Amino acid sequence: MTSRPVAILHAAIYTPTRRIEDGAVVFAGGRILALGPTREIRPPRPAERIDAQGRPVTPGLIDLHIHGLEGCDLFGPELTEVARRLPRYGVTAFVPTTLTMPEEEILKRLRAMAQVMETPPRGARILGIHIEGPHLSPKRPGMANSAWFRPLTPEAVARYQEAAAGCIRLWTFAPEEGEAMQAIPALIAQGIIPVIGHSDATYDQAMEAIRRGARQITHFFNAMRPFHHREPGLFTAALLEREVITQLIADGQHVHPAAIRLLFQIKGSAGVALISDAAPMAGLPPGRYTWLGYEVIVADGRCQTPEGALAGSIALMNEGLRVLIEEAGIDPLDAVRSATLTPARALGLRRMGQLRPGAFADVVLWARWGTPEAVWIHGERIV
Ligand SMILES: [Zn+2]
Repeated sequence: MTSRPVAILHAAIYTPTRRIEDGAVVFAGGRILALGPTREIRPPRPAERIDAQGRPVTPGLIDLHIHGLEGCDLFGPELTEVARRLPRYGVTAFVPTTLTMPEEEILKRLRAMAQVMETPPRGARILGIHIEGPHLSPKRPGMANSAWFRPLTPEAVARYQEAAAGCIRLWTFAPEEGEAMQAIPALIAQGIIPVIGHSDATYDQAMEAIRRGARQITHFFNAMRPFHHREPGLFTAALLEREVITQLIADGQHVHPAAIRLLFQIKGSAGVALISDAAPMAGLPPGRYTWLGYEVIVADGRCQTPEGALAGSIALMNEGLRVLIEEAGIDPLDAVRSATLTPARALGLRRMGQLRPGAFADVVLWARWGTPEAVWIHGERIV
């Protein structure tokens, strides 16, 4: 598909390794052609010119951990609809995330997701599948039904990856359960990034998993062993190990703003990946819902089980970015980086998550933080 070249002028550009005041970005043929101060950029003649009037321009947001939105559950064929709807929230790429269910049901749904990915819809890029459950700790279940939990095994890795036609890219599990530690090489051999989460791992167990190749923590702070100065836990291992990226939910409910600042101060924005963990109820009015058999209540900005466990969030990445900047006081450059370049790097994607010549033209122009005004994916205007 060829679309007309675009030149966005007079913008505050977050590349996001630097901020360009009164900047311009030009893209064509799906790629970024040039960027810099507006006075130095000469847009090609046929380009559509957009005057940003000083508003922010960032790379498209990348969500490593999302379950659905607006009543659509991406754990199955509705993945198509989720990909179509996400760009309106500034999200241009995502990793659809599964839920704990009986294994036959999971495998059936993975097959349906793989089918969607074979002919991707026009919308946000689907970067692979993120498995979250049932290889979790019964001590840190979150909303999930722990009756279905079992330790991760190399055989399970093979079965799931086969059902998913090789599309699984992230796998959240509790390394301290059973022989799960021994399954880490099986994940890596299948091209899957091991992610520690819903875990009661001690400091030593977490360090062991990191030594073996675990590289991310699922929704850091939530559903994990907390800090104790005599048993510093997964918490401390994740903070101290530089190569470990911590996923963070910033919906104003899961994590206190001071805890968010603490995390950014210790890890830096290269070590924090903003995620939504959005439930299919995100964007729906308050009320009672069923989510794949789980009963949940949406009220007061949260989604929770009748027992009071948080069941994902009801805010998407755009709102998370706003919360980071406006409520937690994170520098916008760091906040943008945690929602774009860091998740791209976490997946080893070199042409996404940043604005530089040659990168994919996945671009968002913001009316203000949290409110996208225009979104391009591969240079094509989607919103
Ligand atoms: Zn979770």
